[in-house]
Amino acid sequence: MRKKLVVGNWKMHGSRAANAQLLAGLKEAGPWNADVAVCVPAVYIAETALALTGTAIAYGAQDCSSHEQGAYTGEISSAMLHDVGCRYAIVGHSERRAYHAESDQLVADKAKAALAHGVTPIVCVGETRAEREAGQTEAVVKRQLAAVIHTLGHCTGEMVVAYEPVWAIGTGLTATPEQAQAVHAVLRAQLQAATDRAAAMRILYGGSVKADNAPQLFGQPDIDGGLIGGASLKVADFAAICLAAAH
Ligand code: PEP
Repeated sequence: MRKKLVVGNWKMHGSRAANAQLLAGLKEAGPWNADVAVCVPAVYIAETALALTGTAIAYGAQDCSSHEQGAYTGEISSAMLHDVGCRYAIVGHSERRAYHAESDQLVADKAKAALAHGVTPIVCVGETRAEREAGQTEAVVKRQLAAVIHTLGHCTGEMVVAYEPVWAIGTGLTATPEQAQAVHAVLRAQLQAATDRAAAMRILYGGSVKADNAPQLFGQPDIDGGLIGGASLKVADFAAICLAAAH
């Protein structure tokens, strides 16, 4: 039985005051019988670390560089993330693939860099609405995951995968539990062919997860938790999702 993992992706939201309130609220609401983490804007990682000291809530970044170090203005290396205690780094979020032209290979290189420094990559895959309507969902997510598996090789079993249909992110549209489970099963089979650790790997669902749809989604056999955007910004909503993962 895999312990569920719920990760909040704050995206480019927050302020010192708002974050302090949110984190204090989560500390009070937890702990839950699930692994919980927040991936915060990089400038707030240090304060998040302080706020979460002594709690079971982990924290991470929303991206990392594929490079080790050097003249890459604006980038943040996974060694730096590890240095400030990040457990996770989201890589390949659809917003970065779309707005920063991140290729499958770049995402794979970022995942490799994260793992090299003890940071667990949360690798996002997912199809657009047009791709789903064209019947390409399976081919798209398999292509995205294959690039990572190929690049990580024997380390594949160390990552977390997040299936995030692009059409469901921030739109209020959610994949039905059955739609999500079908894709998760495809991803699990792909991981099984790549690593003997596949059964223990967590595959998260992301895309308009809310307190009311989380129990059904998390009840699916291959859905091991969620990557939560909008609902991670409100204590009550995020806490309810963490509670749903604890059952
Ligand atoms: C996300 O950004 O990863 C996400 C799933 O967002 P939302 O929950 O708002 O759809």
